[in-house]
Amino acid sequence: MNQFQTRRSFILIPIMSILNIIFKPMKVLASSLNSKEEWNLSKEEWKSKLSPESYYILREEGTERAFSSQLNNEKRKGVFHCAGCDLPLFLSDKKYDSGTGWPSFWDSIQGSVETKVDFKLIVPRTEYHCSRCEGHQGHVFNDGPAPTGKRYCNNGLALRFVPD
Ligand SMILES: [Zn+2]
Repeated sequence: MNQFQTRRSFILIPIMSILNIIFKPMKVLASSLNSKEEWNLSKEEWKSKLSPESYYILREEGTERAFSSQLNNEKRKGVFHCAGCDLPLFLSDKKYDSGTGWPSFWDSIQGSVETKVDFKLIVPRTEYHCSRCEGHQGHVFNDGPAPTGKRYCNNGLALRFVPD
């Protein structure tokens, strides 16, 4: 281990343990609301259930091309469900145009998503996934509008829109 790596894990490990403490109560709440076990499917089961594009996003933590999703321009009233297990994740009245090219929301339905930190781009980002099937949805940032200041930047391929 070189000096840079040592220094990095020295900084990151305490940050990750703090995040774990913060997000643990949310996890307990979510699992008491949903039957997570039913959604513990094998790779093959997921492949047969999802399109190859949605499989890549939901099960391999992929990211779709910006501005590629029709849900970007979806402005009707309704609910955005997880494309994997159909759990309702976002309400249309929390959706806004972030200009980033991905469907964006300033809040999620309580208990519907869980977060973890990923280091894919070196700089830590907070990934979030469906609390029931653990399908990867997107990343959450702190540059969203009031009242939460959050921006849930979601892959359209990971969602299914159900109009009211
Ligand atoms: Zn799900």
